[in-house]
Amino acid sequence: MKKIGIAALSALLCAALCSCANTPERKTIYAMDTAVTVTAYGKNAAAGIESAEEEIYRLDKLMSRSNENGDIYPLNESGSGDVSTETAEVIKTALDISRSADGAFDPTVTPLMDAWGFFGQKYRVPSDGEISEALKYVGYENVSLDGTHVTLKNGAKLDLGGIAKGYASEAAADVLRKCGVESALVSFGSTIRAIGKKPDGSGWTIGLADPQNPDEYIAVVTISDECMSTSGSYEQVFEENGRKYHHIIDPLTGCPAESGLTSVSVICSDPTRADALSTALFVMGAEKAEQYRKEHNDFEAIFINTENEISCTDGMDGKIELKNP
Ligand code: ADP
Ligand code: MG
Repeated sequence: MKKIGIAALSALLCAALCSCANTPERKTIYAMDTAVTVTAYGKNAAAGIESAEEEIYRLDKLMSRSNENGDIYPLNESGSGDVSTETAEVIKTALDISRSADGAFDPTVTPLMDAWGFFGQKYRVPSDGEISEALKYVGYENVSLDGTHVTLKNGAKLDLGGIAKGYASEAAADVLRKCGVESALVSFGSTIRAIGKKPDGSGWTIGLADPQNPDEYIAVVTISDECMSTSGSYEQVFEENGRKYHHIIDPLTGCPAESGLTSVSVICSDPTRADALSTALFVMGAEKAEQYRKEHNDFEAIFINTENEISCTDGMDGKIELKNP
């Protein structure tokens, strides 16, 4: 892991916005509580985007906590049941990452999301008693998966909010590819999946939000045929009595993670993994995340700390440009 030196802002972003003679098709929809923009080039772009959109809506219904006809709502109500192969795949990846990250990622944070009001956007600071009560039901070890059969023990309930967007962005990319699209970008909130490169042969340039000023970019990252998922403390946040509270919960304390990091991006080929990993590494903090990366070197990462200092893995060389020298 190394600190990035000062680099001049390249014209990459500008180039991305204005260099293509070939105009893309683009559409924004709302799914999984976030804006999803699909950009695609080529003659099949419009049809591809339409099919990708349907796929995203379908998966949103399947994996949402609040849809009575999906997989998760009935499971959380009854404590056991069969789910679709797709939901089972997401739960399997979630549990794999929970185990490898020693619980920093935990898909049973559900009662904590409720206690803090992040579910349903009814934000509030819960009492210590409420947090202790909610923590009784948190623990990925309470989830067992046998094929597509899921059992939730000790009152555990699933929340796939930290991973489902990654899965859905890959599913949308699959649909686009099946429609013959070879150049596209699926921006699923802060999980971004690139298919190929832009038609002019350049990569896709992604603005990395400045945690201290999220409407601005702090750096520009170039990706092609891979994905980038960012978990940031600025993404869903509320203020009470002068303190800010964000939506990435430390399953150990039951409170918004205060790990010294304000943003973690994971860049790799698998968006499902990237989505869960960015959440996990955020909760771990820089030191543990660095150790984790030593043991799992199949991804690259960018970290921003509370001082707004950026560090990244060596594989990001040539892929990231800082905005301010
Ligand atoms: P975003 O949803 O903004 O892309 P993340 O990918 O980091 O951000 O996921 C945050 C979401 O994940 C929360 O809204 C919640 O549903 C869930 N979540 C929060 N904390 C954790 C955690 N420690 N482990 C697993 N899921 C979490
Ligand atoms: Mg995530």
